[in-house]
Amino acid sequence: MRLLKERILKDGVVKPGNVLKVDSFLNHQMDIELFNEMGKEFKRLFADRPINKILTIEASGIGIACVAAQYFNVPVVFAKKAQSINIDGDVYSTKIESFTHKKTYEVIVSKKFISQQDHVLIIDDFLANGCALIGLIDIAASAGATVEGIGIAVEKGFQSGGDIIRNMGLRLESLAIVESMNPEDGTVVFRDGMN
Ligand code: 5GP
Repeated sequence: MRLLKERILKDGVVKPGNVLKVDSFLNHQMDIELFNEMGKEFKRLFADRPINKILTIEASGIGIACVAAQYFNVPVVFAKKAQSINIDGDVYSTKIESFTHKKTYEVIVSKKFISQQDHVLIIDDFLANGCALIGLIDIAASAGATVEGIGIAVEKGFQSGGDIIRNMGLRLESLAIVESMNPEDGTVVFRDGMN
């Protein structure tokens, strides 16, 4: 998606450790006009799928998922970070290793809000090693829900997540795939150029 790629080139900051900082428009301050275009694009990409729910994870996925949901006319459910000690039988839970914080945490979704009747679109801001997505896929599987597709804003194509998810046979659409980025000179190169 050209608009997102242009914004990454303009305002993204490449940090050491393979981290792309986009907190001026995506992760902290949020550009809702851009989110709106991203939501429209997700709808265009998944128009053929019978999606009745969007599943995401707190915190950064929520804004993007909510704006996109207006184009699908469906509710958003987000996996909540929880303390293991608080987890009871009314929730599906899974462990996720955080790429940015390098620690493992547990996320939960109430059994009230996901079931085998659901056809979910999973949305998140970034795809790196795939841990967050695998956790969400695991929760959907525990509930017997169908994953109709996965929509990601920024995939870092040089990390393993994209291949892992595509090899699972799931339909993954990323609006921008970063092929390489260099913290020394700040350059970012996209897989399909600016298309
Ligand atoms: P994964 O689980 O795929 O390794 O990492 C995905 C999660 O880590 C995303 O939900 C996102 O919050 C965070 N993340 C991974 N890489 C980056 C990055 O380069 N920049 C930012 N801002 N977040 C990232």
